[in-house]
Amino acid sequence: MSESPAKVFARLSTVDRPDVASPRLRRAVVLGGSVAGLLAARVLADHADEVVVLERDEGVDGIDGERRGVPQSLQVHALLPGGRAQIERWFPGFGREAVEQGAVASAAHQSEQWIDDVRAVSAPNVVLLNGSRTFIEALLRRRTLALPNVRLLPTAATGLTFHDARVSGVRLSAADEESVVPAEFVVDAMGRSSRLAAWLERDGWEPPPLQRMQIDVNYATAYFARSQNEPPVAVATSRVSPDYPKKTHAALTAVENGRWMLLQMTYGEDRPPQDWDGFVARCADLPPVFADVAHNQPIGEVHAFRLAEARRRRYDRLNRLPGGLVSVGDAVASFNPIYGQGMSSAALHASCLSEYLCGASDATGVATRFFELQKVVVDAAWDLSTQSDAQRLETGRPPLPTRLQRALVDQVLAAAVVDIPVATAFNEVAFMNAHPSTLAAPSVVLRSVASNVRTRARAARGRLTSEAGTPG
Ligand SMILES: Cc1cc2nc3c(=O)[nH]c(=O)nc-3n(C[C@H](O)[C@H](O)[C@H](O)COP(=O)(O)OP(=O)(O)OC[C@H]3O[C@@H](n4cnc5c(N)ncnc54)[C@H](O)[C@@H]3O)c2cc1C
Repeated sequence: MSESPAKVFARLSTVDRPDVASPRLRRAVVLGGSVAGLLAARVLADHADEVVVLERDEGVDGIDGERRGVPQSLQVHALLPGGRAQIERWFPGFGREAVEQGAVASAAHQSEQWIDDVRAVSAPNVVLLNGSRTFIEALLRRRTLALPNVRLLPTAATGLTFHDARVSGVRLSAADEESVVPAEFVVDAMGRSSRLAAWLERDGWEPPPLQRMQIDVNYATAYFARSQNEPPVAVATSRVSPDYPKKTHAALTAVENGRWMLLQMTYGEDRPPQDWDGFVARCADLPPVFADVAHNQPIGEVHAFRLAEARRRRYDRLNRLPGGLVSVGDAVASFNPIYGQGMSSAALHASCLSEYLCGASDATGVATRFFELQKVVVDAAWDLSTQSDAQRLETGRPPLPTRLQRALVDQVLAAAVVDIPVATAFNEVAFMNAHPSTLAAPSVVLRSVASNVRTRARAARGRLTSEAGTPG
């Protein structure tokens, strides 16, 4: 690809809808009716006479509750502004509708971000739409299934059929009457445990190499009732650096149905408490807003979740792949969830699909171009999240280029705590609105260095003043 990743990322982040309705496919089938699958179905609806979404979970129409096929569904989920903008692109009015149904829209002054117990400056771009994952998915499903050429088939896919090196259909579980749904184009959106690689191998195709990164993340999410005496915030995060003595990360978000969701997150063997007393007691170790919320009436149980590794399936590295087949969302890459990138990545994969289909003369050919575009999005999210995991877990001294890159990132991270323009530029990347390389722009780096020099000078002056005031 001759264009820079930053340029491709910027183009994929457009909020303009494409002005084309070609190529035409007779039937496209999406495997998995969750966030990634529903957004892919929306894009395909512009290009196919019929789009069929296969979903193995029954009763996914409810607005609330746990999803068997999505075990993380009850954990805190942040919808990043980059992902929200893409959802709005495909479903205009989505944010307004979400708020009408109870989601909480928050402005910058309603957000608190803490790093190592220091409150960061409030950047103007921390404008969020807060709702539970189940709620967001249910709204997406409603909008997608309202399209006249999209339908949901509540059944599990068990494999693919091929003709002339192209996908020709999807096998259904044996109990169903119809054993194959013919398809010209198939999207794998089966999530992290997608079986597509195994199906390809079974049928004589190359499976994608699997890239793994050990993360050992422990999540515990608790729900509380929102009361009249709420703190004037709608969202808060607290992160700790690897060498900070406290080890609990946390997030808090006001969501639909008058509830708070409060997350405690740790690494390794140190697991957040799963009993109410222990969970509430640990909030005392967090910035004050967390303990304030934990004084409210608890709802239900504390929900725990553990994730051992981040995973990436390298379809972009395959030499041989059947035509008319792509993979999106967690099926391609699932990251350390603390960065909240999953749903937004899925939304940007839908954008890759749109650009690919709009430019393809034959959509049933091998989707090499799609995987090239998707690689830009996955690299951006993967690099951002795995860099700090690698740093946390490494034992030896990393090579010089890694140390230099980290020194630069550290400058930006330190300045983002105190400097609004740097915090704004950093958020644009963390929110998946901009490519990570934008943080290496001289304007951002120089401003960060200058800000850090000022902070250190202030701290040194403070030390001198207090020493001078100390009776000798
Ligand atoms: C603990 C945790 C916290 C997270 N926090 C955030 C966050 O803050 N923000 C964020 O954006 N993301 C977050 N994520 C990631 C987010 O949950 C996913 O990225 C998001 O759900 C989109 O995933 P998906 O649609 O690709 O797959 P999934 O949501 O996993 O859905 C896959 C779907 O495929 C269906 N399926 C599977 N196999 C078959 C089959 N054979 N036939 C038919 N259907 C099938 C399943 O039933 C399911 O509905 C978090 C993840 C975890 C684990």
